[in-house]
Amino acid sequence: MLTYLTDMHGRAVRYLRLSITDRCNLRCLYCCNASQYQKFISHPDVLRYEELLRIVRLMSARGIEKVRLTGGEPFARKGCTEFIGMLRAEFPQLDVRVTTNGTLLYDHIPALARMKIGAVNLSLDTFDADRFARITGTDALHTVLKALEALLSAGIRVKINAVGLKGVNDADLPEFLRLAAKEPVDVRFIEFMPMGAETCWSEEYFWSAEDILAQARSFATLQPVERVQARSGPARMFTVVGGKGRFGLITPLSNHFCASCNRLRITPEGAVRTCLFDDKEYPLREILRDPSQGDAALMAALEQAITHKPVGVELLRQRGLMAVAQKGMSKIGG
Ligand code: SAM
Repeated sequence: MLTYLTDMHGRAVRYLRLSITDRCNLRCLYCCNASQYQKFISHPDVLRYEELLRIVRLMSARGIEKVRLTGGEPFARKGCTEFIGMLRAEFPQLDVRVTTNGTLLYDHIPALARMKIGAVNLSLDTFDADRFARITGTDALHTVLKALEALLSAGIRVKINAVGLKGVNDADLPEFLRLAAKEPVDVRFIEFMPMGAETCWSEEYFWSAEDILAQARSFATLQPVERVQARSGPARMFTVVGGKGRFGLITPLSNHFCASCNRLRITPEGAVRTCLFDDKEYPLREILRDPSQGDAALMAALEQAITHKPVGVELLRQRGLMAVAQKGMSKIGG
């Protein structure tokens, strides 16, 4: 009988997020500060694809249903698409997805369509080239839009994630709603979180989900989508009445979703991170690379980590709106 990996609060892990690299070709202002970008994890310290496969193998035998590749920028790592192919071939029952900034994606889209990837989450915060440059430090907006068009033509399910930044991308809201009306995409705004010890988070930038929703309602008629407990992710979704797509809000700060959290993260250097807001990590790499330790030892380490998965909102309350974790998102895997 299948026994799920369950924490001490009774939450079963169904969703594994693999951060396959901490390297990224963008410098998004919300993600990481300049000093963190100067220091990347050295290649030998990053988990190899076969090591990641071994973790997925163990966890798929314990009932996980979804695997997401993230980073850093997953497509900045050589072999990312081939690795997705390996996951799809060995675990056809798993819903495999990727989160990407879209700048290195275009050439991989035909292969991703052939592999029947579950969805691509595209991080896109603006449709304006100057604002894109201000947020990401590059002028690659046209490349991302080209990839978006190709994803839609290839029939791949697309979710767009935009970090809501007051005074930076609020003017883009009508354009995001137009896109959700015109195309069958989910556009989700994420509240800006104070991640990383030297985060640039400030109240000035913080655009709460309630404000975003109130403003969005002045541009489109939005109908709440009923939540299906087991299936619904952290986003509160709305159909755009008369359109093809949906609009949503991810509210890690104003309205947490810890009670239904079913996810587990593996950092690029092979540690289990049970909660975005908890700096406690459980290393697996030494076990993976020690020939004297087999799958039983690996599973014991995973179980030990999962048991102690905290309720993130309690950590948030303790810290207030200081950095909610020491590492920035690119080092954890956003
Ligand atoms: N490079 C890939 C990408 O851009 O999608 C994957 C990694 S990136 C860290 C994943 C997601 O984290 C992005 O959608 C980004 O919007 C989100 N993110 C990063 N820092 C954040 C923060 N401080 N608050 C909210 N979301 C953040």
